Amino acid sequence: MKNQIDISVIIPMYNESEVLPICYERVSTVLNSLNRSYEIVFVDDGSRDDSATIVRQLTNDMPSIKLVSLSRNFGKEAALTAGIDYVSGSAVIIIDADLQDPPELIPAMVEAWEREDVDVVLMRRKSREGESIVKKITAFLFYRILNLISDFSIPTDTGDFRLMSRKAIEAVKDMPERNRYMKGILSWVGMDTVIIEYDRPTRVAGTVQQNYFRLLGLAIQGITSFSIAPLRFAIFLGLVSATLGASYGVWIIIKAVMWGDAVQGYPSMIAIITFLSGTQLFTIGILGEYVGKTYIESKQRPNYLVKKVDSSTNLQSTENKNEL
Ligand code: UDP
Ligand code: MG
Repeated sequence: MKNQIDISVIIPMYNESEVLPICYERVSTVLNSLNRSYEIVFVDDGSRDDSATIVRQLTNDMPSIKLVSLSRNFGKEAALTAGIDYVSGSAVIIIDADLQDPPELIPAMVEAWEREDVDVVLMRRKSREGESIVKKITAFLFYRILNLISDFSIPTDTGDFRLMSRKAIEAVKDMPERNRYMKGILSWVGMDTVIIEYDRPTRVAGTVQQNYFRLLGLAIQGITSFSIAPLRFAIFLGLVSATLGASYGVWIIIKAVMWGDAVQGYPSMIAIITFLSGTQLFTIGILGEYVGKTYIESKQRPNYLVKKVDSSTNLQSTENKNEL
C-alpha cells in the first residue's frame, strides 16, 4: 500500500503556548521547502495553558496540521505513543515543541533516510547548551550505565529526536507495554540506522517540563524496563554478604575454640546488622520495582486516552480504542 503522506512530524506538547507559534513557523517553513506531502501531528498532553487553542486555530485552515488532545497529562512517553498511533507518513519524525531539536535538521534527516535506505535516522547530541553541569553529568552517566546493563544497545546521547520509517514505526506499535521508556522502545527495534550529530540548543522559551524527579523516575524506568541486571545485582550482593558473614562466623568459632575468647564486639554487631538490613531493604526495593511493573502490565490499561482529534482532513488511528 502506498502511503499518501511522505513525512509525518510528531510534536508532543505540554504547556508550550509560548513556543508554539515559533515552533510551527520553523517546522512548517522547513517542511514546505522539502516539496513533499507532509503532516504535523501535535499531541496535546493535557496542557493547562492555551497550547491546544493555538494549534486548533491552525488546524482550521491548514489541512496538514492535526491535533490529538489527550484527556489529561499522561507524560511525554504516552504523548509520543499517541502520536505514533495517529501518523500515517512513510517517514515519521519526532521532535520536541521547545525547539531543542532544531527543525532545520529535518532535510538532512530525510536525505539520509533516502540516500542510505535505512529505517532509522538517529540524532546524537554533540553538546547540550544551557543545561546545568549536574544534568550533563547525570545524563552522561545514565546513558552509559543503561548501556552497560541492558541486553541491547541504546545509542548514547540520543533522545527521541529521530526519523523512523513506516516499517520501524509499525514495529514500535507492536510493543504494547505499559511501562514505556520510549528511547528504549524506539531503540529496541534495531534495524538499519544512521547517526547524525548536532549541537543541542537550549529551550527557545517556556520552562522545562521534565523536572529532576521525573527524570530520575524515567531513569529507573529506563533501566528496569530493559534489563533485569538490578535483580542479578541483588543476588550478587546477597551472595557476597552471605559469604562474608559465614566466613566471619567460622573465624569467631575458631577463635573461641583456640583461645577461648569471651563474647565481645557489640558495636561491630550493630554495624553488621544495620548494613545487612539496609542491603535487604534495598534489594527488596529492587524486587518490588519489578513486581510493581508486572502488576501495572497485568492491568492492561491503555497508555493514553484521546479526548478529541482536530483536523480538517480525516485523521484516525488504525484502531480507535483509546478515543473517548
Ligand atoms: N512534554 C509532554 N508531556 C509532559 C512533559 C513534556 O508532552 O508531561 C513535552 C514538552 O512539551 C516538550 C517535550 O515533551 O515538547 C520535552 O519536554 P521538556 O523540554 O520539558 O524536557 P527535556 O526533554 O528537554 O528535558
Ligand atoms: Mg526540552
